[in-house]
Amino acid sequence: MSATTATTSTTAAPVYDILGIGFGPANLALAIALEERESPLTARFLEARPTPEWQPGMLLDGSDIQNHPSRDLVTLRNPRSRYSFLNYLHEQGRLLRHLNVPGEFPLRKEYAGYIRWAAGFFSHLVDCSQRAAGVEVVEENGERVYAVTTMTGSRYLGRTLVMGPGRTPYVPAPYDSVRTPRVFHLTQYLPRLAELAGEGREPESVAVIGGSQSAVELALDLSRRFPRTKVTTYTRSHSLRLKDTSPFSEEGYFPEFTDYYFRADRAGKNALDGYMHGTNYSSADGDVLRELYVTMYEQELDGEQRVFLRGSHEATAVREAGDRVELDFLERITGEHSTESVDFAVLATGFRNMGPGPHEELCPPLMAPIANLFATEPDGRLRVCADYTLTAVADGTPPLFLNGLCESSHGIGDAGSFSLLSLRAASLADALTVRLTAAATDRSAVLAAA
Ligand SMILES: Cc1cc2nc3c(=O)[nH]c(=O)nc-3n(C[C@H](O)[C@H](O)[C@H](O)COP(=O)(O)OP(=O)(O)OC[C@H]3O[C@@H](n4cnc5c(N)ncnc54)[C@H](O)[C@@H]3O)c2cc1C
Repeated sequence: MSATTATTSTTAAPVYDILGIGFGPANLALAIALEERESPLTARFLEARPTPEWQPGMLLDGSDIQNHPSRDLVTLRNPRSRYSFLNYLHEQGRLLRHLNVPGEFPLRKEYAGYIRWAAGFFSHLVDCSQRAAGVEVVEENGERVYAVTTMTGSRYLGRTLVMGPGRTPYVPAPYDSVRTPRVFHLTQYLPRLAELAGEGREPESVAVIGGSQSAVELALDLSRRFPRTKVTTYTRSHSLRLKDTSPFSEEGYFPEFTDYYFRADRAGKNALDGYMHGTNYSSADGDVLRELYVTMYEQELDGEQRVFLRGSHEATAVREAGDRVELDFLERITGEHSTESVDFAVLATGFRNMGPGPHEELCPPLMAPIANLFATEPDGRLRVCADYTLTAVADGTPPLFLNGLCESSHGIGDAGSFSLLSLRAASLADALTVRLTAAATDRSAVLAAA
């Protein structure tokens, strides 16, 4: 479709003020913000899963969250909200017991319960099992709106679109060249293990690819789950690195940093990214690193080494070989080549950010057919405004907001994490109100003149 044409039709389908794609924490926080402001705007969210869940593929026993629990869906925006994590604990009758748990952060499964609980209050706004498959701008009853078609064939209309589908899993080469259930991204971890369990045997050998928090959690989980299995973590970097948790660096997750980052030019942003990288990526918390190290050391003492780390290893080829997978590796420093045969490989290789780089994507895939309606930066990435809207090329394009996808314009606090979720929801609620009020005024003026 060109930037100026839109399909025209007349239907009785409702046109929502806000049509949201995805009902993960990002759009849930927005729904809460709208309710707490008693917003008159109508909203409908489409969620692909049968029920809203927070990262269900990685709800590993013993794993904890990586954000202060009060950096939840609401507290920074409204500390008196009933939808806070603390109120969730209170309503579950678990507050005091929870405060007595000797851990730095809550268990991830408890936080997932919090998200499920909060989402439950908004079920009247969400259509589940509705994976958005197509987005277009159409002219409906004389109004330009977004039309979203789902995998079930349903069609929804919105005066604005809020994209909150989470970030796209990054599957690098050569892993992207094989189509086998034995090579999978961490977002598929638990469902894929359940499928493979159907084979009725413990794996002999498995590989974890990557050096992130999730990679370390996966290595630990696999070593507990399959105590006789060889578990090897392969990283491109020399070894596993401690996350930068300096309180000074953590200020990168403050709204002031978001403003500072947003105003910086691309060179400035790149420099800031370089500094902040270690606070979130290619690194892990001390507790899991210590646990992995002690596990490996104890196995060495016992003469039964089953958990291994291979640093400076980069896969050069991946092949399906019967009911196994073969991985060719290059040792990046010595130049040695080796081949490993595993039952399966889990990719802890991260997610795509928006941008032109090889690890990035210019826009969320669902948006590709309408991306030409919006302005881009000189390097091809979409130009995002401070209020998380895209800049339309032509007048009359309805507003499109990105929720949780804007690390490349708004910095590390927007890296799909909880850190600034509640404050971003406030910005979005404000901007949606402003844009929709302006559009309604324009429509009334047109009707009055007709
Ligand atoms: C294993 C793991 C652990 C993490 N732990 C933490 C942590 O401890 N602390 C932290 O701050 N961050 C953490 N994160 C980062 C995480 O991205 C955020 O916590 C949070 O999930 C971001 O919320 P979101 O709504 O933007 O995206 P998501 O949580 O990914 O939610 C997006 C939703 O959109 C739905 N969806 C996707 N595509 C479509 C479609 N086409 N149509 C309809 N629905 C769709 C999905 O089903 C999903 O429900 C973790 C991430 C992972 C992968």
